[in-house]
Amino acid sequence: MIASVPHPHPTPADARARLIANPGFGTVFTDHMIDIRYTEGKGWHDERLVARAPLTLDPAAAVLHYAQEIFEGMKAYRLADGGFGLFRPDANAARFNQSAQRMAMPALPEDLFVEAVETLVRADAAWFPPMDGGVLYLRPFMFASEAFLGVRPAREYRFMVIASAVGAYFKAGGGALSLWVSEHYTRAARGGTGAAKCGGNYAGSLIAQAEAIEKGHDQVVFLDAVENRWIEELGGMNIFFVFADGSLQTPPLGGTILPGITRDALMTLAHDAGMTVREAPYALDQWRADAHSGKLVECFACGTAAVVTPIGKVAAESGDFTIGAGALGQLTQKLRQQLVGIQHGVAPDPHNWLHRIR
Ligand SMILES: *Cc1c(COP(=O)(O)O)cnc(C)c1O
Repeated sequence: MIASVPHPHPTPADARARLIANPGFGTVFTDHMIDIRYTEGKGWHDERLVARAPLTLDPAAAVLHYAQEIFEGMKAYRLADGGFGLFRPDANAARFNQSAQRMAMPALPEDLFVEAVETLVRADAAWFPPMDGGVLYLRPFMFASEAFLGVRPAREYRFMVIASAVGAYFKAGGGALSLWVSEHYTRAARGGTGAAKCGGNYAGSLIAQAEAIEKGHDQVVFLDAVENRWIEELGGMNIFFVFADGSLQTPPLGGTILPGITRDALMTLAHDAGMTVREAPYALDQWRADAHSGKLVECFACGTAAVVTPIGKVAAESGDFTIGAGALGQLTQKLRQQLVGIQHGVAPDPHNWLHRIR
């Protein structure tokens, strides 16, 4: 049971309305947060919903030195009937524990993870932005809070969930992305932490993302660390290729790619629609050749934050190219509509992915 200690002075309704009118991404936070503690020998304890507030941490907290930290990214959707829903929260809970295992952190019971997220959404439901597609972006995370500088897995952790009111992740209009291929920095190597959703992967990717922005692009795409040849994924999104023969391809998981829940859902939807779906390596050279020959007709990136976003242009030191018409393609649009329809409770949901918050 999560104990509830409601905010003594919640944001007044008029101030909240101003904040959520045009929230952007990741800057407008709700009134509450979930805070749960773990102590070795005792397990998870002191499960609470409390007023959102800065943390007090010992400067020796292990997370600040050895980066034992993992997170999840989820959205709560406003449903057509006025209720609220989550998309496959059980999959986020399971992935959270896979990340925890890789980072030598304790597992969190999956039902406690889902209860925590639901409790926060119920407490802060007034923070849903009013515009179409406005959602609460949920950020469950866990970090090592033990004050200890020795190098070993910590013995104390905190699990928290915060929520942010968000409009659209990418610039309005949903225009196609321009990608920069990083032929210098890599994101993950076999045996490393590429499949874990940990802050350290992001820290290592920021310089490449900054390089992409500096060169006038939106996002970076990483190549494999061994041959510097095979497409892996973006800094925080998976990637798909659509061919003229109607087939769909995405790089295979294998420890270096984050197993996206959006990626999995889109493969399932495409398969349901009778498409051929391949999880197979795809080389940068082949990508460029197929874009030039017309064999490749669409490309898109996907993830919880960006949903499904078309990729129009690719730039690399070894040469730039355009994909299809450089804009949103037919299949990309169809998959996006179907996914968003399920998430908002307006499209058939044959796999029971929508989880209603009661
Ligand atoms: C979270 C994440 C994704 C997308 O995962 P979803 O479950 O679809 O949101 C893809 N790549 C990386 C590196 C990520 O951290």
